[in-house]
Amino acid sequence: MSSYHNIMEDVVEEQYNAIKDRLDACSCEQCHSDIVALALNNLPPRYISTISGLTFSKVASAKVQFQADVQAALIRAAQIVKQSPRH
Ligand SMILES: [Zn+2]
Repeated sequence: MSSYHNIMEDVVEEQYNAIKDRLDACSCEQCHSDIVALALNNLPPRYISTISGLTFSKVASAKVQFQADVQAALIRAAQIVKQSPRH
């Protein structure tokens, strides 16, 4: 079991679910995965050590910090996926 985790993955997934209605893009499984993966490729990874004793609140506040960047990346990714959906 690895002891590190890229919390950017959680933030992108959360924000996708929060704003998917506003993305005006297909939300099938393929498009969902494509949009999230594309957004993640355009965002810096944010790894945390899961054995460092980071509290949940620290993780949560880190997530809030990235929300605007993540939403912008999701919107860009959705536009790209919309132009050539793979579903
Ligand atoms: Zn689709």
